[in-house]
Amino acid sequence: MPFNMHIKICIFFLKLSIYSGTDRFIYFGTLIISMEKQVICPHCNKDNISKRGSYTTSVKGKVQRYYCRDCDKKFVIRDGFYRMRNSPEKITLCIDLYFKGVSTRKVQEHLQTFYPKNSTWVSIYNWLIKYSNMVGSFTDALKINTSKSIQVDEMEFFTKGKPTWFIDTIDPESKFMVSSSFFNRRGINEIKEVLNLAKSKDGNINHVTSDGFHAYKYSVKRTFYSNYRAFTHKIVTASKGEGFNHPIERLHNTIRERTKTMRGFHGSVESARALMKGIEINYNFNRKHQTIDCCPYELVTDLQLSKNKWLELINLSFE
Ligand SMILES: [Zn+2]
Repeated sequence: MPFNMHIKICIFFLKLSIYSGTDRFIYFGTLIISMEKQVICPHCNKDNISKRGSYTTSVKGKVQRYYCRDCDKKFVIRDGFYRMRNSPEKITLCIDLYFKGVSTRKVQEHLQTFYPKNSTWVSIYNWLIKYSNMVGSFTDALKINTSKSIQVDEMEFFTKGKPTWFIDTIDPESKFMVSSSFFNRRGINEIKEVLNLAKSKDGNINHVTSDGFHAYKYSVKRTFYSNYRAFTHKIVTASKGEGFNHPIERLHNTIRERTKTMRGFHGSVESARALMKGIEINYNFNRKHQTIDCCPYELVTDLQLSKNKWLELINLSFE
């Protein structure tokens, strides 16, 4: 909204309040102004904008068109679903079903039953990759509040016949998967990447548990040890009968449950990485964990999400 419009609305409510003799309307007016999001021109990033008609599409309903007085261009507000030919509800329904364990072909069958216009399983697969990456950039940048102690471990997969690795960290208290990524090797650099991501999300982590795999020792030390802070690295040895304190093993069972039927998982490492990010997002934000009786994100972030978690996360990722 341009500045002069702000002023006009303020004056309008000011007059109202003078007539009614209270300042309640000023408060009300300010509330309305703050509720309306400021429109910025996508071409020149200025806010000298006016409304210029609207049009209706079958997918999105009424779409407001804007005009930039500075660069003389018309535009519509872009969101996470810009130029998509299907509604946000339909797209997020498919993403939700897929990460709950329904295959892309089964999701397509579901669409055929309930939607007049069909979408191929390839479109559905492309939505999974696109939105897992989009929301992943947002959730990877979140600041969270863990128990300060994490477990790190890896899972072996086979992608196009070659071994690949999913490396992840979990906060055993909140069950939140703090960081993860997918690689075609598991060396010091790959482990450090995942540990650094965990560190960037919670700078107060001071304890890491891992198994005895040699690359952990060096990676944990390089990522977390400093002269200023007490830090401990606990190594558990499976052969001595010591296990992890289970949360990460249970998490990996949950992941295996989903990946064993994932056909699309056997494409490139990049698309497998995106799908695994989708699994992380679904696990943290869209799946009630029985032990804690809520979604893990509720214990480590301030986010308030409504029922359609994927839709809200996509919108948040785009802001
Ligand atoms: Zn402009």
